[in-house]
Amino acid sequence: MIFDLHCHSTVSDGKLTPQALLERAIERGVNVLSLTDHDSTDGIALVQKEISDKQLDIALISGVEISTCWENKDIHIVGLNFDVSHPAMVGYLATQSDIREARAQEIGRRLERTKLIDNVYLGAKAIAGEGQIGRGHIARYMIEQEMVKDNATAFKKYLARGKTGYVPSPWPDMQSAIDVIHEAGGQAVLAHPMGYKLSGKWLRKLTIAFKQCGGDALEAAGCQLAPPHRQHLASLAQEYDLYGSAGSDFHFPASWIELGRNLHFAKGVRPIWQLWPQYANELN
Ligand code: AMP
Ligand code: MN
Ligand code: MN
Ligand code: MN
Repeated sequence: MIFDLHCHSTVSDGKLTPQALLERAIERGVNVLSLTDHDSTDGIALVQKEISDKQLDIALISGVEISTCWENKDIHIVGLNFDVSHPAMVGYLATQSDIREARAQEIGRRLERTKLIDNVYLGAKAIAGEGQIGRGHIARYMIEQEMVKDNATAFKKYLARGKTGYVPSPWPDMQSAIDVIHEAGGQAVLAHPMGYKLSGKWLRKLTIAFKQCGGDALEAAGCQLAPPHRQHLASLAQEYDLYGSAGSDFHFPASWIELGRNLHFAKGVRPIWQLWPQYANELN
């Protein structure tokens, strides 16, 4: 069975609508999908409706990717299999949305000081539409305005940590995100642990902090993970008694990331879905 428990739609910075994403997941043979938009669960009901209306052969697990701050770094916590309408979660995500708006405006002001671009917030907001605004939309506006040639350059030169347009992590701490996921009945996953570009020592520190906050799983399978990294994450999960989750972090069709691709664990990982009665015996 293929589980892909991390991906994005137009509800945040993905480029496919929730419905188009679902269609692609089915084409790629995904059996169990979790839509994990940044700080929003707005796409989940749409996907669920599409599945029931068309009687599609795929299962949906509720999901969200919550932005948090740990040691001045943006750390992402994926929540899985929780009650989307739980008041604590609804309230938490409403605050995240307010922070996103304020941060986007501040990023805009910082970029405008370069005199190379104008109207950043409104431009990015138009691209985001009703979706949760993020740096990805700002990058797209920068490309549209010919300030940069592509997304990678937008981040590398302007939006990454320490660059002109970067706003120091405005997010709440990891503990509060893990708590709200648990309160809503779900499991908390440390997203893309290799994506923070931490040294081995710091990755271990992060894993320990995550575990101490009550975190449940490490994302130990991703489609671009090199075998030694997969192995390292499996060892860390075992050492700190964490489950493993699997997710592509798909944002848009591209040759390097695909829904459901290459999401196997290295040996010894206990899949997070074994906590869910319907998948208690499923391997990966
Ligand atoms: P935000 O949640 O608004 O802080 O934006 C984080 C998102 O920006 C990530 O989920 C990626 O989609 C994208 N992103 C972050 N860093 C980079 C990077 N170096 N290059 C391209 N995209 C990035
Ligand atoms: Mn993203
Ligand atoms: Mn992320
Ligand atoms: Mn993501």
